[in-house]
Amino acid sequence: MSKNYIIYTYGCQMNVHESEKIAGILSAKGYACCDDVENADVIVYNTCCVRENAEQHAFGNIGMIKKLKKAKKDLIVAVCGCMTQQKEFAEKLSSTFPYVDIVIGTFNVDKFGELLDKKLSQKKKVVEVLDSPNPICESIIPLRSSFPNAWVNIMYGCNNFCSYCIVPYVRGRERSRKAEDVLKEVKELVENGYKEITLLGQNVNSYGKDLSDGSSFAHLIDEIAKIEGKFRLRFMSNHPKDITEDVVRAIANNQHACKSIHLPVQSGSSRILGLMNRKYTREQYLSEVEMIRKIIPDCAITTDIIVGFPTETEEDFLETVSLVETVGYDGAFTFVYSPREGTVASKMDDQVSPDVKKDRIMRLVDIQNERNRQDSLKYVGKQVEILVEDYDKKKNAYMGRDERGRMAYFEFSRNLVGRFVTVEITKTGGMSLIGKVVKVED
Ligand code: SF4
Repeated sequence: MSKNYIIYTYGCQMNVHESEKIAGILSAKGYACCDDVENADVIVYNTCCVRENAEQHAFGNIGMIKKLKKAKKDLIVAVCGCMTQQKEFAEKLSSTFPYVDIVIGTFNVDKFGELLDKKLSQKKKVVEVLDSPNPICESIIPLRSSFPNAWVNIMYGCNNFCSYCIVPYVRGRERSRKAEDVLKEVKELVENGYKEITLLGQNVNSYGKDLSDGSSFAHLIDEIAKIEGKFRLRFMSNHPKDITEDVVRAIANNQHACKSIHLPVQSGSSRILGLMNRKYTREQYLSEVEMIRKIIPDCAITTDIIVGFPTETEEDFLETVSLVETVGYDGAFTFVYSPREGTVASKMDDQVSPDVKKDRIMRLVDIQNERNRQDSLKYVGKQVEILVEDYDKKKNAYMGRDERGRMAYFEFSRNLVGRFVTVEITKTGGMSLIGKVVKVED
């Protein structure tokens, strides 16, 4: 009888793709994926420490597995990801949850299979958290779970040390994959029917700077433009301090690239941006937005915003509000600041009170939601091209996004997942769009 695994993933897309790689390793060893934890022989928690709630959630769930482990002695429980890369956390995990069998950091997750073998043969706990990253491993074949979308790492790590962020400490410095490896992966994905490729990196605009072969992000986009077949190209995340005209022109000239850029601003106050160590001012950010819109007039721009950063005053917050109104974002991920141990910001005085943070985020979300609703209304009566991503059982409708990332729902009599369709928008459902299919692409 085959053995089963289940992976719980916390945090960002980066982690989702890392879990696909762990799934690939387990699948190559003959394990099958299961939905029910009771049927699992290997349980993996791929943790995140970027947001506080993801951390607490993971802790709670690891705690709940104790009963299962008692009943099933051979069950293997493994914990990996950003949380375990912090040595003090890895130690705390080992002592608080003695039934955890494998603890592995982010720098050697490619060795997950070897650590599993070690645990199975030695029958004792395996803890391996490295101080520096293993060389980039190109031999793992991820078991992808998001068809027709596929995630492709172009680089790992970050050099920026934004004062609130733990990533550079748990993911190391920037390491770019060779362009030929990225291009090979993208080409194979397109040949295998994937229709939306998202290039991943903490700061994709830095791609290639650590390689001494002249690679750059703009050049990589140009090379991807040469790949034949119909697919969409997206990437995340851009750092505003590094986005250049070259990159924006490469996006403009690439028939695959969505005319949509995620440009995380984090705050509209130059004083707060300085404290965040973001290395740009409000004015510089706004001039980049202007540059993007000059080169790609209809470019969708989305962002990330943190409210309640230490010392943020009402005036600082209102600068964020005015920046949001000036840019007119097509979407914004808004977060309440929470201190991450080990970061510079966590040691700053004048942490903003939870009530003030709550009030500010609610005001900001209301503003952005209203903008999204107004934007959606502009679609009514128009025809848009949608990539069908899934069938929503609750809504009894297919769902997908347009190039700008706007979600649309529509009914159809046969399976459309992975197809490009033209949908005539008849009404809105709040921020999303509702319509009818007028054309299905071959
Ligand atoms: S750019 Fe800043 S926020 Fe993004 S991962 Fe690097 S340190 Fe964190």
